[in-house]
Amino acid sequence: MTAAERRVAVLPRIAPRSRPRLTIDLAAVARNTRLLADRAAGELMAVVKADGFGHGALDVARTALAHGATRLGVTSLEEAWPLRDAGLAAPILSWLNPVDADWAAAAAWDVDVAVPGLQHLAAVAEAPGRHRVHLHVDAGMARDGADPAIWTQLCRTARRAEQRGEVEVVGVMGHLGCADDPGDDCNARGRTRFAWAIEIARAAGLRPRERHLAATAATLTDPRAHHTMCRVGAGLVGIDPSHTADLCPPMTLTAPVTQVRRVRGGTPVGYGHAHRTATATYLGLVPLGYADGLPRTASGRAEVLVRGVRRPVVGRISMDQLVVDLGRAVDLGETVTVFGPGGHGEPTVAEWARWSGTIEHEIVTGIGARVERRTLAVPHLRSLA
Ligand SMILES: *Cc1c(COP(=O)(O)O)cnc(C)c1O
Repeated sequence: MTAAERRVAVLPRIAPRSRPRLTIDLAAVARNTRLLADRAAGELMAVVKADGFGHGALDVARTALAHGATRLGVTSLEEAWPLRDAGLAAPILSWLNPVDADWAAAAAWDVDVAVPGLQHLAAVAEAPGRHRVHLHVDAGMARDGADPAIWTQLCRTARRAEQRGEVEVVGVMGHLGCADDPGDDCNARGRTRFAWAIEIARAAGLRPRERHLAATAATLTDPRAHHTMCRVGAGLVGIDPSHTADLCPPMTLTAPVTQVRRVRGGTPVGYGHAHRTATATYLGLVPLGYADGLPRTASGRAEVLVRGVRRPVVGRISMDQLVVDLGRAVDLGETVTVFGPGGHGEPTVAEWARWSGTIEHEIVTGIGARVERRTLAVPHLRSLA
């Protein structure tokens, strides 16, 4: 044994202590998946991009596949590899890749790819392997997908590549820009453009079996957008951009109080003295800040739950810490709930989003790496026999 190995060998085990923790309840993902699968006219694709919206891509993927989803969706191919590595055999679609992505690996690993333009099509067709592609049309948001001006040419070129055996066009996809507001007529225009895109594809000789336009909001509000499959991400993790369904948020963020101090009225708190205590009170220090995903822009508005009571976050949220006006003394190490499903009076992710001037998606995908994660499995139903 070398001296270095001996030094490592004698290090004491680090016991788990109270620390900031993100608990993810997969039972909520299971319930949300069942509700969405029930609403979808056709198949349900579980979109697990951005590490399953911050909830753990593999955990969300496995849970969703066990509760009604039949496929998986990711943005980059790099997000697909760990799903295959873990042994998930469900169809996977990856829709946002640079033109020089590893298309050969996609074919080898049986990952479908979206093609948003002619250069992508050429690159995919040239790469070794037989490629399953979904032609991606821009349904009206000028973001990802092919410009309708080139759609006919894209379909015809894809058909020729198909006849040469280079690709198989299995799908056509689009994405709606305003689905969170079902009344916006941008949705009708998007649906019309998508229907047109399918017709053009068929006229070019393509036979796309998978035709998919709806994400969470349209899955919940607009059956006319469902076609053969709905692609849902936000809804799996309890976020409903349409505010029409009752979904369950899986995340709870807690942290221990690491310092408590008694202060007089008029005490300035934190950077810039942005807050002064109105009266004598107790201030609690919580070791979570914007590096952990609590936006600094929530300063002056945010609240947390302490001993069953909402208390205000005071002063500016710092990189690593925030201060709570406790109103009374609490013990060191006492747990503060920053957000959770809301059933016990704690703030929700939706409230943090409002306090920060953003959407829930940005909060849940932004929780930092140093927050300990604990994932609760879906309890199995015990047979009563
Ligand atoms: C993220 C994404 C989805 C999922 O959208 P949600 O609103 O989160 O359900 C579907 N399709 C595409 C193209 C996406 O980028």
